[in-house]
Amino acid sequence: MKKTMLFILIISLLPYSLAIGQQEQAEEKPDPMKNFSLVDETQPVTEKLKVGFESITGNDAVTYLKFISDDLLEGRDTASDGYDIAALYAATMFELWGIKPAGDMERPRMDFRRMMMQGGKPPAQGKRGYFQNITFLETLGSEGQATVTWQKGLMKKKKSFSSEMDYTYMASGTQSITAPVVFVGYGIQESSLKFDEYKNIDVKGKFVMMLSEAPGKGDPESPFNKGELKEKYYPERRPMMRRRRSTSPKFKVPTDMGAEAVLLIENSPEENGDVPRQYLNAQRINDERPIYPGTRRRISFVDNIGRSMFGDSIPTIRISRKMANDILGMLDQNVESLKEKIEETITSHSMVLSGVTLTVENKTETKLVNSMNVLGYIEGSDPELKNEAVVIGAHLDHLGRRGDYIFNGADDDGSGSVGVMEIAEAFAKNPVKPKRSIVFALWTGEEKGLLGSRYYVAHPFIEKTAANLNLDMISREYDKETLARMSRRFGVEVGKEVLEKIDAKKFVSFSFDANTPAIDEIMRKNNNHVGLHLRITGSKEATGGSDHAPFGQAKIPWAFFIAAMTEDYHQPSDSVDKVSPELMEKIIRLAYLAAFDLADK
Ligand SMILES: [Zn+2]
Repeated sequence: MKKTMLFILIISLLPYSLAIGQQEQAEEKPDPMKNFSLVDETQPVTEKLKVGFESITGNDAVTYLKFISDDLLEGRDTASDGYDIAALYAATMFELWGIKPAGDMERPRMDFRRMMMQGGKPPAQGKRGYFQNITFLETLGSEGQATVTWQKGLMKKKKSFSSEMDYTYMASGTQSITAPVVFVGYGIQESSLKFDEYKNIDVKGKFVMMLSEAPGKGDPESPFNKGELKEKYYPERRPMMRRRRSTSPKFKVPTDMGAEAVLLIENSPEENGDVPRQYLNAQRINDERPIYPGTRRRISFVDNIGRSMFGDSIPTIRISRKMANDILGMLDQNVESLKEKIEETITSHSMVLSGVTLTVENKTETKLVNSMNVLGYIEGSDPELKNEAVVIGAHLDHLGRRGDYIFNGADDDGSGSVGVMEIAEAFAKNPVKPKRSIVFALWTGEEKGLLGSRYYVAHPFIEKTAANLNLDMISREYDKETLARMSRRFGVEVGKEVLEKIDAKKFVSFSFDANTPAIDEIMRKNNNHVGLHLRITGSKEATGGSDHAPFGQAKIPWAFFIAAMTEDYHQPSDSVDKVSPELMEKIIRLAYLAAFDLADK
């Protein structure tokens, strides 16, 4: 009897437990719209922001853009006349709108006749200007060679290598490095696998030879291809733009350990081409694209002090597989067998190459050149908080010209630059000012390695930066095809049902500092006044390879707007006739509203 009762009880409870299970499953299923803010019906902005908001128009933005992306400015290369004209143009507009200068104090002109008339008193301190001047080093040409020696007692071996064939090294000055060599496998420290290739190895003052990537490439069974480790070492979706070397642990660890330089071996030369092939590829004629004569100008910070001040990593020398084997061969080792052992055992096979010394010599012809960030500001209305600033920035420089080819850079990043100008005008015209101050910044040197924004982070106009808003490439619309492609290629998992809801023409990727969730709320709230279809991505690291990265590295909350990445990216075809005034207007207006909230909260 008892058994029957129990059986009846279980049968009668079954539907409930099934229902509960289903409910939990429904609860767990992530909301596909979680990272989107798709707004079509907009609400009017509050009265206090209206004047500024309405002063922002796509037509004005395109008018300014026509000027700075004109052939006359020859692609605004860093430290070129074209860039200087664009900078002067922006500074003039700032002055016109009553935006205060936030650049360097101008050096007073030494007028001896006037000085004598004033009894020899030197003229008063000059007034502040809109330019933050930076002296850079331009490398005009370089040649180099490397020599490895092995000595044990009287026995000696020696081999020489030439730059651009056996190795490539973008040295920023004449220098020579002589040091012992250590091999550290992939140079990985992965505590979850108890795998530390630096354990018991002293790399201080030495060359650190390592393979790129990680063990287990293409091997689904490898722990590096599973779960979180896969996302870390072999992410499905490559980030939008390359990550800066200085923040990648691969280069940060040897830098922090005081190594001299990294000797980087291509992990999969068959896929990416070894040093010689990369060199030849660069020479190969590409039918789809014109051959651009000459090479890009190499501009960097003046000296290695720059490296420590701006958190640069130690030099990286890309060496060919053959050069690596010639060096390891001095001790009867080679890359293939060491790699195999590491892959099989996931244990360290790092070693100091005893008796081996490598010398890398580089002669470079250099000269000093000047460029400038363009900086203006409005003062905050709060007596305390005005000593903090929200920095709104975009890079004004682009790739310049190569022979007859001018890289106008209308989208990259002429669009962001005129965006910053429009927002400056809006804040100048809007009667109500936020509590914190706002700095409007046009960076130089972005294409050369984020030089201008990195310089500003080390030399801020207002000591405390509360947040950074970065606009880079905000003028090109997606279409259905590019949107679908973007969702596959650029780290955006967009399900079919979501894709159907998105209006490609209004689609923009917005990423922000996940350590400051308030930015997400501010963006969603203000998008109700603008009507974009936003993809909102929080990230703990300032990925994306643009000018918000130095702020993120300095632990300053950041946010980054970018619209469609097109075939014209870094091509002479990136011209003003292709931009969308409608899209620009919306993005610039949203950035204005968000900046106000960030500065007023
Ligand atoms: Zn750019």
